[in-house]
Amino acid sequence: MSKKPPVAKKEEPAAAPAAAPAKKAEKGKREKKHKEEKGVHAMYKVEGDKVSRARPTCERCGPGYFMADHHDRYTCGHCGFTRYKQK
Ligand SMILES: [Zn+2]
Repeated sequence: MSKKPPVAKKEEPAAAPAAAPAKKAEKGKREKKHKEEKGVHAMYKVEGDKVSRARPTCERCGPGYFMADHHDRYTCGHCGFTRYKQK
């Protein structure tokens, strides 16, 4: 009689999940007051093969830094530069 070595039975999970399922907190969805986020694409308008920018760029930060459009001025959120609109 050959005694087999006791096989330690490892309780392995049936299948290790390759990627943990993203837990989505779907219930209790709290609607935050969401400012309509437009993203940078809203700053550009493509007409044919030309691109026009809807906002001026910051002259301090250079191109790529758009300035916020206020009713009487433009401001740069990056450096704080403010340029008043000419009337
Ligand atoms: Zn700036």
